[in-house]
Amino acid sequence: MRYVVIGNGCAGIEAIKAIRRRDPEGRIILMDPDPNPCYYRPMLPDYACGLKTREELWVVDKGFYAEALVDFMAGRRALEVRPDEAAVIAEGGVRVVFDRLLLACGSRPRLLDCPGADLDGVVYLRTLEQADHTRKIAAESKRAVALGGGLLGVELARLFNELGLETDYLIREDRFWPQMLDEASSAIVEKRLAEKGIRIRKKEGIAGLSGRGRVREAHTTSGEVIEADLIGVAIGVVPNSELLEDSGILTGPGVIVDGHMRSSAEGVFAAGDIAQAYDPVHGEHRINTSWMGARKEGRVAGTNMAGGDEELPGAIAFNIINIYGLPVACLGQNLAEGEGYEHLVREHPQGEAYRKYVLREGRLVGAILIGDITDARILEELITAAADLGGIKERLLEESFDLRAAAGELLGRSGKGAVAE
Ligand SMILES: Cc1cc2nc3c(=O)[nH]c(=O)nc-3n(C[C@H](O)[C@H](O)[C@H](O)COP(=O)(O)OP(=O)(O)OC[C@H]3O[C@@H](n4cnc5c(N)ncnc54)[C@H](O)[C@@H]3O)c2cc1C
Repeated sequence: MRYVVIGNGCAGIEAIKAIRRRDPEGRIILMDPDPNPCYYRPMLPDYACGLKTREELWVVDKGFYAEALVDFMAGRRALEVRPDEAAVIAEGGVRVVFDRLLLACGSRPRLLDCPGADLDGVVYLRTLEQADHTRKIAAESKRAVALGGGLLGVELARLFNELGLETDYLIREDRFWPQMLDEASSAIVEKRLAEKGIRIRKKEGIAGLSGRGRVREAHTTSGEVIEADLIGVAIGVVPNSELLEDSGILTGPGVIVDGHMRSSAEGVFAAGDIAQAYDPVHGEHRINTSWMGARKEGRVAGTNMAGGDEELPGAIAFNIINIYGLPVACLGQNLAEGEGYEHLVREHPQGEAYRKYVLREGRLVGAILIGDITDARILEELITAAADLGGIKERLLEESFDLRAAAGELLGRSGKGAVAE
């Protein structure tokens, strides 16, 4: 069997490990324009501000590829996928044929589109190279602007602040990360950022940037001018799907996959940020851009590529972020409200911890945890299994309630992995 894996990220590596568990001998060819060993992207902000070393980023050690008998075409980009020929065309016109192909080429930052967006000092943070560049530019800067109301935007603001730069943080919305957090939890995060000296400017964007060669000023959408010599942009990601343009593979905009991570083309699988798997809670195919999601999808894809039969246990949204030591976990339909939904909330008097369960007809469909997030995995399982919490609802918010023990019983009873409607 001949396996080709496009993308040496978390999904690609997990797939390779799963393939090798079932097929110790098949040929595995891996290609990636980034020549580094796979690294832990969520740690890039800590690396860029000097809190982590380069060595601490590696997900696998350099010997992994040789030990797993992987032909790593390091530094080579896949340009085109031709399912009819069972072949991939890579840079340099190299044609690589496959029996099984994994698309694990992730996503890239959406670029800022305004006058001055190409000035020096405008940075993005997705790759190790960009992290090194950001660090270099930051060392020459005094004032920074971070743009983007989600997980990466706040990480950029933290990074600039940790590096001692005066930092303005611009978010388009009227509060932090409304797509993931409810009002109470946004307020907790905003308080933490303000305490650290980050100036949050809400309902703001960048209309243009000015400077000679190097950025010096950001002109905001509300008409203000902020002096800044470093602009960090995190306004979303775009799946790296150009190589599929003429392939006939179903995309929308990620690669549409079934529960086995199979695409619409025979022998072609997808996993991670490029894949759009079915989310049973939202009832549609969605891209789940999370590290843990990519790992899980990579494992399932690899297992099935090597002849196994594993199904994704319901790709529910699951995000974990740590903001200045404040861990935040958001799961499933954590913002759902209206008829049929019930919210159970526990707040900390000083506003440093928060726990919210969202139930529909007694079943857990979403949750937000701030402060203590040790229950996040259990809650993910309960949501995935559509477990009926009716029997323990009254005790769920008690500090002393042992959710772990109760979940064990519930999952046993309701059948772990049962599919939610
Ligand atoms: C700064 C940062 C912080 C983050 N923080 C968190 C967090 O706190 N929690 C969380 O859950 N998630 C976080 N994420 C998201 C998480 O890192 C991604 O969801 C995860 O890395 C996706 O894994 P992947 O393997 O699908 O893609 P990637 O890790 O992006 O890997 C894809 C690989 O494919 C390669 N590639 C692209 N195009 C081609 C091509 N044409 N040919 C060959 N190779 C190609 C790329 O070079 C890359 O190496 C963060 C991401 C970033 C950038």
